[in-house]
Amino acid sequence: MLLPIITYPDPSLKKIAIPITEFDDSIRDLAESMLETMYVSNGVGLAAPQVGRSTRLIVIDPDHYNSEKNPRVFINPEIELIGENIVSENEGCLSVPLNYRADIPRNNKIKVKYQNILGEIKEEIFEGFPAIIIQHEVDHLDGKLFIDKISRLKRSLYESKVKKWIKNGGLE
Ligand SMILES: [Zn+2]
Repeated sequence: MLLPIITYPDPSLKKIAIPITEFDDSIRDLAESMLETMYVSNGVGLAAPQVGRSTRLIVIDPDHYNSEKNPRVFINPEIELIGENIVSENEGCLSVPLNYRADIPRNNKIKVKYQNILGEIKEEIFEGFPAIIIQHEVDHLDGKLFIDKISRLKRSLYESKVKKWIKNGGLE
């Protein structure tokens, strides 16, 4: 099922999401619908708060644009930064309107502790692009957007563009 994606400045994107404790059919349905929504929206990741569910579930596919897809689901993910600081170039987000993009500081290697769809605890190391996507999506679970990490000047320029866009009825 396709889910509507919530966009900035909706205040619900600032909420801290709640851990998942029951690994039932509703969680499987949510993960499936989120993957479907992500693929249709041309994204490489999606977090549950972006579809109005304040729970700690993210889906990603770093290979979205490759011939072999690689859908992944992470529940209650916890990140440990174990690499070096890098700049993630041209980062964007399905919840950030006007296709806005910016360079964002990230880490190039992370260890992720998470639960799979069955509730089993897993640990995995990610490097490069997948690591960047996971950091971006876990930020959503903590109520953070990538535009919270840009300079004040860039942020205020962006905010005035969004205000104008909303005033014009949200048409690009
Ligand atoms: Zn995002």
